[in-house]
Amino acid sequence: MGGRPLGQHFLNDAQVIDQILSVAKPQPGQKILEIGPGRGALTYPLLISGAKVLAVEVDEQLAAKLKPSENLTVIRQDILQSRLDELLSDGPYKVVANLPYYITTPILEKVLQEGHGLIDELVLMMQHEVAERIVKPAHRLSGSLTHFVRFHAQAEYLFKVPPSAFLPPPEVDSAVLRFKLHAPPEDCQPKRFFDILRRSFAQRRKMLRSSLKGLVNDEQFARAGVEPQRRPETLHFEEFLALERASRS
Ligand code: SAM
Repeated sequence: MGGRPLGQHFLNDAQVIDQILSVAKPQPGQKILEIGPGRGALTYPLLISGAKVLAVEVDEQLAAKLKPSENLTVIRQDILQSRLDELLSDGPYKVVANLPYYITTPILEKVLQEGHGLIDELVLMMQHEVAERIVKPAHRLSGSLTHFVRFHAQAEYLFKVPPSAFLPPPEVDSAVLRFKLHAPPEDCQPKRFFDILRRSFAQRRKMLRSSLKGLVNDEQFARAGVEPQRRPETLHFEEFLALERASRS
């Protein structure tokens, strides 16, 4: 995997911090969940805006060094073990984070799946390569994560950040994305939809007819308007939805 234990690359560039603040647009009294506050590079600027920050940090020493106040609550916890329904019950929250990259995908899966009704928007820094995958449907970089995200939220690529903005610098470029959670699509069985995605991308070089054997037949491909010879990375989100719908009738 490489990189620092716990993905500890601290922001060390005032301009990038300002850029993140200008897209996160914290408001006085607004509730913000910060995942991995570290040494507070984003936390304190967020507090200056008058927002109320709930900071979840797994590293005991880092958590102990943050200074709780009326507007800052620090919780020493692994975000992947957190009960978001309890933590964010007084929401809605905005999530702001420079994510620990070793767990970008599990964190995204958790906050998007469990965040409905608790979180309305997220501004997240992540590795550039994952950011690209998320915002490029029907592209060779697309994968099940692309469509998983689209199922739960509208993702927008905001800007790229070089390794030199962090201390110590990571080995890869980073990017900041905004996610706006929306209701899952209507007339869709999530379990079946994610099954189709998983099966399609498990063998991304294969034609869908072969990957989805037993789940979608030729007649159902025709009804969905998707050629069964296509590969999963050429499909748009709506086409996966159409396949799921057709596969039920
Ligand atoms: N926000 C700080 C900044 O921008 O300088 C630190 C960002 S650093 C990339 C990621 C932070 O997430 C570290 O402080 C790390 O200790 C914390 N972290 C790692 N794994 C975590 C987990 N499972 N739950 C909560 N925090 C975690």
